Amino acid sequence: MRKITIAIDGYSSTGKSTVAKQLADYLGYVYVDTGAMYRAITLYAIRAGIITAEALDKDHLIAALPEITVAFHYDSDSGTSQVLLNGERVGSAIRTLEVSEHVSPVAAIPEVRKKLVAIQHRMGQEGGIVMDGRDIGTVVFPNAELKIFMTADAAERAKRRYLELKARGDDITYDEVYENVTERDRIDTTRADSPLVKAADAIEIDNTETNLEDQFHTILQLAKDRIAGRV
Ligand code: C5P
Repeated sequence: MRKITIAIDGYSSTGKSTVAKQLADYLGYVYVDTGAMYRAITLYAIRAGIITAEALDKDHLIAALPEITVAFHYDSDSGTSQVLLNGERVGSAIRTLEVSEHVSPVAAIPEVRKKLVAIQHRMGQEGGIVMDGRDIGTVVFPNAELKIFMTADAAERAKRRYLELKARGDDITYDEVYENVTERDRIDTTRADSPLVKAADAIEIDNTETNLEDQFHTILQLAKDRIAGRV
């Protein structure tokens, strides 16, 4: 059976990674969370003092890029993959509000994007991949056979993210999360390099009120149609 490329883009906290993971598991494809890659570089910059509460030293970060490796480790026991920053598993450390607050300015730096997009191209060159992010259907894989663009009401997205962070014990308020989600949307959609925009041939799915199970089946059917060459 032919292996296709599935690109899932959209706003922050629309559930892109959940559905991308489900699809990859079902189809036996590789799942790549590209947001985790931008978060890993941001974590590096925070730890190295390149990002402080006041500023991001872009030139310093660009100069440090050759020293940063970003890869994935697949754990066959749990069936999940974790992002590696210079060999260290940082899957949990990249999910803090601090990283979320700094990631969009980092992701707006063209040199950062160039480095990560090159890695993404290598991972996806054989097809059989589900990749989620902001520029997958527009820049990384403009020829992807299936492109999904996910949206949802900002208050609903902030609520989902807030409950997720609370559940793991983070000390945050709903207002902080709402502010972060909307500010990231603003930076991601207005940056000069690879802004978040719906590809002309992407299928838009608004899941503000959709049950996640139904959403998965809708997207899976779209994928099956493409795999079978029906579309
Ligand atoms: O997907 P996630 O919310 O973890 O992404 C974190 C941030 O990484 C986004 O807000 C965006 O600034 C950046 N990003 C990007 N391009 C991608 C994936 C993520 O610019 N393909």
